[in-house]
Amino acid sequence: MSKYWNRKINEAEPYVAGEQPKNGQKVIKLNTNENPYPPSPMARAVLRSFDIADLRLYPDTNGTEFIEAVAEVEGVKPSQVFAGNGSDEVLALCFQTFFEKESNTDLPVLTPEFSYSFYPVFEKFYDIRSKKIPLREGLRLDADDYVNVPNCGIAIANPNAPTSRSIGLEDIRKILDANKDSVVIIDEAYAEFEDPFFTAVSLIDDYPNLCVVRTTSKSYSLAGLRVGYAIASEELIEGLKRARDSFNSYPTDRLAEKIAAASVLDVKYHEECIKKIIRTRTNTAEELKSMGFDVPDSSANFIFARPPRGIDAETLYLNLRAKGILVRYFKTPGINDRLRITIGTDDEMEKFIANVREEISNAKDS
Ligand SMILES: *Cc1c(COP(=O)(O)O)cnc(C)c1O
Repeated sequence: MSKYWNRKINEAEPYVAGEQPKNGQKVIKLNTNENPYPPSPMARAVLRSFDIADLRLYPDTNGTEFIEAVAEVEGVKPSQVFAGNGSDEVLALCFQTFFEKESNTDLPVLTPEFSYSFYPVFEKFYDIRSKKIPLREGLRLDADDYVNVPNCGIAIANPNAPTSRSIGLEDIRKILDANKDSVVIIDEAYAEFEDPFFTAVSLIDDYPNLCVVRTTSKSYSLAGLRVGYAIASEELIEGLKRARDSFNSYPTDRLAEKIAAASVLDVKYHEECIKKIIRTRTNTAEELKSMGFDVPDSSANFIFARPPRGIDAETLYLNLRAKGILVRYFKTPGINDRLRITIGTDDEMEKFIANVREEISNAKDS
């Protein structure tokens, strides 16, 4: 609290990110869904050839080189792409642009009960009403729960975080058809890890109310660069540009624009990294299941596992942490019996599994 802060800031409940160890600290970091593999070699090539003198000049407002690269790879028009400083910023602009605050209709934004923890932060900060839709048995999202529920907008992460589960295109269509007067955000931070791959981008020409949000942070190994994007109808993209230009008209800097563009165009490298992660995900899930963990099928680069009887999630989280292995634990009732484990390299996951095995056997002995 501070007397110098306004009411909004005094009452804000900011997002708390997963722990980032200090530089030089040796840990196995499986807590913030970063990619264990380096960015595309094309990203380094950009850095080598970049003329530092260009930094004198402001960047391009739209990040044109990047949005043209996305348009090419995704088969959409550049005018259907919007770039921002990470998808967190893109999502923040979406909430401000598409959802009603302090409206006389009082309608809420619908989000899954357990989903990306930034959504409730945005809702609070922008004074938007919210309604959490419970998940079904096994953390499953049911599209029918988003039909005939009055709302001013919908935000769904697909695959969902932290559950790792996803819904298919037919379910997304059902939600879009039932909510034609609201914008439906499909946050696809992890879509690239879907096996077989699919994306709601294929629906944007059918649904002017669909806003797909993507990021280069996870599958492109560029979390440190901060480039996220939205793919949607021109009508929605225009709205996002109005919001952006009322706040910060240069969200993607000159280097970020070029590095992200080169990375997105390196389709082959991207696919190779994803294949490796999917393979490691399958192996890790099998190992955990063989130890008695409940592991829902994951469509993301993490798994959401419930330890077997005899050791609770928080104890396991703390014991692993003491050994330099970071995973994510949420205290939230309903999901506080699970750990969210990012898929690292095979080597990292072998060490993780060996340590988990040891913890489980220690717990049995005591
Ligand atoms: C990681 C994540 C993001 C944010 O990604 P940035 O582009 O790095 O800001 C958005 N949505 C979900 C569901 C995420 O897990």
